[in-house]
Amino acid sequence: MSPDRVTAPGETGPGHAGIVLRLRGVSVAYGNRLALDGVDLTVRRGERVALVGPSGAGKSTLLGLGNGTVVPTQGRLDVLGVEPRALSPGALRTLRARIGSVHQQLHLVGPLPVVHNVNAGRLGSWGRLRAVRSLVRPLQVDEARTALERVGIGPDLHVRTDRLSGGEQQRVALARLLVQDPELVLADEPVASLDPARAEDVMRLLCGLLEQPTGHRRTLVVSLHDFDLAVRHCDRVIALRGGRVVLDVPVEEVDEGTRARIYDLAPGP
Ligand code: ADP
Repeated sequence: MSPDRVTAPGETGPGHAGIVLRLRGVSVAYGNRLALDGVDLTVRRGERVALVGPSGAGKSTLLGLGNGTVVPTQGRLDVLGVEPRALSPGALRTLRARIGSVHQQLHLVGPLPVVHNVNAGRLGSWGRLRAVRSLVRPLQVDEARTALERVGIGPDLHVRTDRLSGGEQQRVALARLLVQDPELVLADEPVASLDPARAEDVMRLLCGLLEQPTGHRRTLVVSLHDFDLAVRHCDRVIALRGGRVVLDVPVEEVDEGTRARIYDLAPGP
């Protein structure tokens, strides 16, 4: 089945400057199961892209390609202008430091003070020695405090993280993302376990963090179960089904029938 539209807005512009993520004929197989099947996709700097589609459609696999935890079985993948599988381990680490990941599970270390969990956002750029030093005596405390203020909490930086409420812990995870200062944010069902009001709140916060003081915007690719949330917060919707892109449109082109087309399309082969 061919997608309604696969050309990213602006892809035909001069050169490929500003392309953050590019897949050309990318397939990913787990044994004999195809999780992604010949995907062509381009994401440009500053876009907010929602990945939607039923469970098992390949959304997490696509996000895994972006952060280097999944490698293509076939095809060409470029992330922030480089091909991850061609990189040395050191260069791959540098690339990963430029990419932020947000998950449903927050991956915070509960018994550690908040400041360490926020500073964990720097581990990719700090190096081991600095990270260990910071565990003994926290470094860049002011920046951690500023990040926490930006996400709307100002708790004692030295309180155990697991003493905070679930909502506050969610904000600590976002503060960690902020100090990492990634160019590309990949979020895998970040609000799936939240009630609608909290989900809206976290999406608003996450999208707010994409805006940089320079006026530039970080790029977001986020998988979402909630189609309305995708339309409200993103500027492009990509639907996957059976490992293929079946729809790729700007949100302005989303209409009443789009949801039905995404979720009621005939099953892929
Ligand atoms: P989604 O995020 O849309 O639910 P996934 O990318 O998680 O989809 O999965 C796509 C397909 O790949 C599914 O059929 C899933 O069962 C399969 N899959 C995903 N990860 C693995 C894995 N590690 N091993 C085997 N199969 C996997």
